[in-house]
Amino acid sequence: MPKRIILLIIDSLMYPALEKAVGEGTAPAFQFFMEKGAVYPNVVTSFPTMSVTVDSSLLTGVYADVHRVPGLVWFHDEEKRLINYGSHVRELWKLGLLRAIDDMLYRLNNEHLSQSIATIHEELAAKGKESASINVLLYRGNTDHPLRLPALLTLFKPFRTRRKTQGARLFTYGSFARIGPSKQNGHFWQRYGFNNRFSVQELIHLIRTDRLPPFTIVYFPDMDKMVHKHGPMDTKGIAQTDKQLQAILNCYPSWEEALRDQCWMIIGDNGQAPIRADRNKALIDLRRLLQPHKVMALKRGVQNDDELVLAVNERMAFIYTLDPQRAPLVKLAEVLQQDDRIDVIAWLEGNIAHVISGVRGGKLMFRPGGAQIDEYEQRWDVQGELGVLDLTISSGRISYGDYPDALARLYSSLTSHRGAFLIASAAPGFEFIGEGSPTHVGGASHGALHRHDSLIPMIVTGTNSAPKHLRVIDLKEWILSLLEEESDETRRSNG
Ligand SMILES: [Zn+2]
Repeated sequence: MPKRIILLIIDSLMYPALEKAVGEGTAPAFQFFMEKGAVYPNVVTSFPTMSVTVDSSLLTGVYADVHRVPGLVWFHDEEKRLINYGSHVRELWKLGLLRAIDDMLYRLNNEHLSQSIATIHEELAAKGKESASINVLLYRGNTDHPLRLPALLTLFKPFRTRRKTQGARLFTYGSFARIGPSKQNGHFWQRYGFNNRFSVQELIHLIRTDRLPPFTIVYFPDMDKMVHKHGPMDTKGIAQTDKQLQAILNCYPSWEEALRDQCWMIIGDNGQAPIRADRNKALIDLRRLLQPHKVMALKRGVQNDDELVLAVNERMAFIYTLDPQRAPLVKLAEVLQQDDRIDVIAWLEGNIAHVISGVRGGKLMFRPGGAQIDEYEQRWDVQGELGVLDLTISSGRISYGDYPDALARLYSSLTSHRGAFLIASAAPGFEFIGEGSPTHVGGASHGALHRHDSLIPMIVTGTNSAPKHLRVIDLKEWILSLLEEESDETRRSNG
């Protein structure tokens, strides 16, 4: 086992486009890693398939029922307000920019991400091992770091007390915290430093100064936008990211040399499904669909006569009822079922999940614990029409089709936060809109339970071992075990 692990998360990296780019010869660095390591085209990510939820799962090894980051957008039942970590600037303004910045910059890591589960950085620190987090949205660790807030921001009340955060030992968070000496690429007009160039610059600084800790995690945000715009098979983003990987490999005397002391892991975070070009068909307008129910307006917040709140996560939506008498979940579900662009509609009754579909007939009910065992050794009690979630059961074993690890992922989302809500997930080709939602007509989008959104590739060099299951939630334990092996070997060679 090599000395260190470097994990690169490339937002919206997908296997078919990667294979195409490598075939066309436009991704030599990716090709190098793929030829020298193991390639897993289909790793299952968490649900909803949005970066904040996925990164939380990657760091903690659990789904949202435990880590408690339900999505990019969700409704906070105790505070009676919509949390939005920043899906679109327009929406942030409406929500009150300061509160949104506070949620994104501070509360996501320090309050929303559950304290009941340790992150990989915290577990490593407990074992006396350092780690680095570069531009990852979720970063919680044991080390206090000052946040460099723009002077203007510190005039406002919430930020007077929020001058520091708890991160990994080595910590880069855009323009708010950095490791290297150079501000280049890290200015506020460069998306506050949340761009690939700044991520790479900080990683290269660690390599050149020989300060790489046993575990480093680096986030590459840029490709997400390009895939949203140009569709899932776009290879421009891959070619561009490849140049940045080449810059990293070129820090070493030879590319081969880069592999010697390091185990490299390159993964995506979510897939994306194509969105149709016909605007009227592609966009599922939830406000129109759920008329005449009164939906909370973003700017005003909850008013007395509001009946519903919409939290739209692109191809997935949480729909909350504020008045279960006038707007019961079952009735709302039946309305959504009339739309054949919505393929999964789910809600809880007691501890039983109910699932129906606008595409497939029948109803499925399930709960955890029971006699049926799935591909991931999870036990379930499943009843009703299996086709709703494209499940097959043979001799008590459940296998998944279009919705990978569907039962655990859906159940985790239904129990990820308080409130009376249902989950809607769109079929490929479509996405939800509420007030001010970003749209990707003719491009691609994600958030849904479907395999298009849910499968990500992983490339691993420097070890022959693999995680217990090919899921994002199985990576933490695996990485910790690899780093443990390393300590054992060091101890043996020292003794
Ligand atoms: Zn995206």
